[in-house]
Amino acid sequence: MTGKELQELEQRYGAQNYQPLDIVLVRGEGCWVYDIEGKRYLDCLSAYSALNQGHVHPKLLAALVEQAQQLSLTSRAFRNQQLPLFYEQICKLSGFEKALAMNSGAEAVETAIKLVRKWGYRVKGIAEDQAEILVCSNNFHGRTVAIVGFSTEPSYRHGFGPFAPGFRSVPYADADALIAAITPNTAAVLLEPIQGEGGIIVPPDGYLRAVAEACRATNTLLVLDEIQTGLGRTGRMFAYDHEGIRPDVLILGKALSGGMYPVSVVLADAAVMDMFRPGEHGSTFGGNPLGCAVSRAALDVLVEERLAERTAELGGAFIERLKTLESSLVKDVRGKGLLIGIELKVPARPYCERLAERGILCKETHSTVIRFAPPLVITEEQLDFAWQHLSEVLCASEK
Ligand SMILES: *Cc1c(COP(=O)(O)O)cnc(C)c1O
Repeated sequence: MTGKELQELEQRYGAQNYQPLDIVLVRGEGCWVYDIEGKRYLDCLSAYSALNQGHVHPKLLAALVEQAQQLSLTSRAFRNQQLPLFYEQICKLSGFEKALAMNSGAEAVETAIKLVRKWGYRVKGIAEDQAEILVCSNNFHGRTVAIVGFSTEPSYRHGFGPFAPGFRSVPYADADALIAAITPNTAAVLLEPIQGEGGIIVPPDGYLRAVAEACRATNTLLVLDEIQTGLGRTGRMFAYDHEGIRPDVLILGKALSGGMYPVSVVLADAAVMDMFRPGEHGSTFGGNPLGCAVSRAALDVLVEERLAERTAELGGAFIERLKTLESSLVKDVRGKGLLIGIELKVPARPYCERLAERGILCKETHSTVIRFAPPLVITEEQLDFAWQHLSEVLCASEK
């Protein structure tokens, strides 16, 4: 079948909940992907940071195949050989005492919400059904009904109510507003250290530190959603490392399995995680041996290939280079590590399409922002290739 035929088939039978670029990808290797006609592209989106380790990393592939030949799923009704090793590895890497594996990012966010509510009632002494979670405007935490209910983005929410109560939104990157909103009923604050889907919004230095201090002072849990920012993306293992703080609950997903299989996890110390007792939470696929084996390899790769350190060097230099772009189209360049937003004064989609023609895959977010977030295994040469085309496309359109 041709790419065009496949595209028509998908239009005919598929729900129309996405509007992808019309490129049918069939193969990937490292930072490169190939379409059905054999054309090669540099992947500068990496599945929203799920592919930090690059496409089809040999180590991940080997782990997947080896485990798939042995055992794929036990459910948590029985134990498996991989889960304990995965839990040990992610706890040691993150410095948290306990882990809870799920599958998608949204499921892990839901898990964290349940966890902090339970803690709010049992430990903080909030009256039944009064627990509140503070969230930030412009957030993205996934697509479940509870989560879109506390989104401030109309297209995520509109027509999907009624929504779960117990969430209150405060402006992002404004520590004073957040601190003023904390009440004795506030079980937790939930936020992203950098808003990815929201347009690569980087809060001012000191923001997370101020929020963390206020949480400590008011006996409120700080929950950080690092599904997109975690695991090396911003040039540190976790984005909160830039501020020298530590959340009470950490949510990871995406690159946790290097794009090979959906795995997410919630991390916390025992005093919080022990709120869950047998039967109170679960998932048929969560913690399955296949996902755990892949994740263990994905974490090995992050550490062995020093992906966070590389990203700090390469990403920092690339952001500085982008800031020198002399284009009247560019309104702002911002980001940390290899999580970079190029905000245009005009819709970004036509420029993403032009870049795709030249073999660079980017995707717009929030209509005017080009998100530049390649796999962290990207080389300097590949970044040069991206730079060349980005600068030509963004400057050539000068009339
Ligand atoms: C992608 C993302 C999610 C949702 O993850 P899914 O696996 O798509 O459910 C949640 N939070 C953040 C910050 C994300 O970037």
